[in-house]
Amino acid sequence: MQTEEEILKIKKVKNTAVRTVVLRHLLSQEKAQSLKDIENALVYTDRSSIFRTLKTFEKKKVIHSIEDGSGMTKYAVCAEGCNCDPKDLHYHFYCTNCEKTFCLFDVTIPNIQLPNNFKLQQANLVVKGLCDNCNK
Ligand SMILES: [Zn+2]
Ligand SMILES: [Zn+2]
Repeated sequence: MQTEEEILKIKKVKNTAVRTVVLRHLLSQEKAQSLKDIENALVYTDRSSIFRTLKTFEKKKVIHSIEDGSGMTKYAVCAEGCNCDPKDLHYHFYCTNCEKTFCLFDVTIPNIQLPNNFKLQQANLVVKGLCDNCNK
């Protein structure tokens, strides 16, 4: 597991106190976090700094965003070696009971045949059901 400092260095993002705190929080969570989740967890951190940090992280491919249909964009740390290329895209799992969203890093999307000269940039693949905790 990479540390916050290592990840920021690899992705060439300047290390600041806010960035380190936000990234540490995201790494400590098993589920994807919405902006509100992060704000609630980091009450002493300025909200607009958190938002700006997420935008920077997304641009630098430290994290990826997920539209899970809940109406709130969620964020999760990219896997080691991820460049957010089509080959790095994976399914997400949304639990309809606890409303948590998980990255299924091992379930990559199938090769989608697009018409000539079409280029895939994003795929919004969310499967829904009950997570292990809610399925007990
Ligand atoms: Zn659940
Ligand atoms: Zn993911």
